[in-house]
Amino acid sequence: MVEVRLENLKKYFDRGRVKAVDGVNLTIKDGEFLVLLGPSGCGKTTTLRMISGLETPTEGKIYFGDRDVTYLPPKDRNISMVFQSYAVWPHMKVYDNIAFPLKVKKYPKNEIDERVKWAAELLQIEDLLDRYPAQLSGGQRQRVAVARAIVVEPNVLLMDEPLSNLDAKLRVAMRAEIKKLQTKLKVTTVYVTHDQVEAMTMGDRIAVMNKGHLLQVGPPTEVYLKPNSLFVATFIGAPEMNIVDATVVENDGLFLEGNGFRIRLPDDFRELLEGYIEKDVLVGIRPEHMTVKGVSTLEHVTRTAEIEGLVDFVEALGTDTIVHAKVGENIIKIKIPGHVPLPIGENIKIEIDLDNIHIFDRDTEKAII
Ligand code: ATP
Repeated sequence: MVEVRLENLKKYFDRGRVKAVDGVNLTIKDGEFLVLLGPSGCGKTTTLRMISGLETPTEGKIYFGDRDVTYLPPKDRNISMVFQSYAVWPHMKVYDNIAFPLKVKKYPKNEIDERVKWAAELLQIEDLLDRYPAQLSGGQRQRVAVARAIVVEPNVLLMDEPLSNLDAKLRVAMRAEIKKLQTKLKVTTVYVTHDQVEAMTMGDRIAVMNKGHLLQVGPPTEVYLKPNSLFVATFIGAPEMNIVDATVVENDGLFLEGNGFRIRLPDDFRELLEGYIEKDVLVGIRPEHMTVKGVSTLEHVTRTAEIEGLVDFVEALGTDTIVHAKVGENIIKIKIPGHVPLPIGENIKIEIDLDNIHIFDRDTEKAII
């Protein structure tokens, strides 16, 4: 197992016109499950392909431990890849599919047999070893692909949206299985996805990418609760974080004033907001960090503010209710546990958790608080 280090990694296509990856610095710890998360085209796959050796960087270095592997071909890196399209060979039985990388490496026959059985058992496909891929379901085929990837006990396991072709229910089940398997094997893993739920539930850390840049790297809860930019804040979380315009106002206290609301901020916000007095900012608050007074209460919250609104629409999701409230000209979403039958048009008081309020610079879109 190894630590993987990317140093100022760049990949340009079309003579520099497409900056697919534009200066990524990232250390993936030994045995870590790192998720590369971002929207389509942000450079996740290109980053993964450079780690694998399938793509040569335009600039920058890749290290596995102390070893510079930047220009090594894939076969000399001891990596395994699992793709979205299962890429199992249709003309080979499951056994031979899993055994293939071991045969290429010329393992002795008895060791091949042992390892295939070990991997098949881990993926619970021992009973399928005699079948051809055409006789398997999509989920079973993906298990074969994962078994084939781990059978060589790679230094680094690279996965590119491996669950995208599975139906929703199977995806959830496989998510947990891959995570458990990785925890058991402790293999350094880089997992590419655009699915933020997958990232939140599987990653030891999440690296959020946009437009070839790495925006934030951290444990899932940190990225979720302390996003460093408007992009990260709105990309992670469903329903999305509410974002509204406001002005920072100093008037016998510190306030956020916007269309239809005025929030008094605690004094300890003052230092961070120095330089933003009388300036326009963007205010973010996640739907679950608010509630409707008299309907539900915020748990484990020490400081709150209250604003007024009007029920515009109510989505009953079964486990939760999403209340769309009109505050001035803003529509904000509030997530309340359970079923909350609120009449449309009702005046409500909205309670906000002040310790989970986010304030972004309008120009740089970086988080101030
Ligand atoms: P997706 O989730 O859609 O696969 P991604 O985040 O993995 O997206 P990449 O596949 O890494 O993104 O692509 C990043 C950018 O580089 C895109 O704009 C893409 O069109 C471009 N790109 C990728 N490969 C090539 C190539 N071989 N030639 C030219 N442009 C490319």
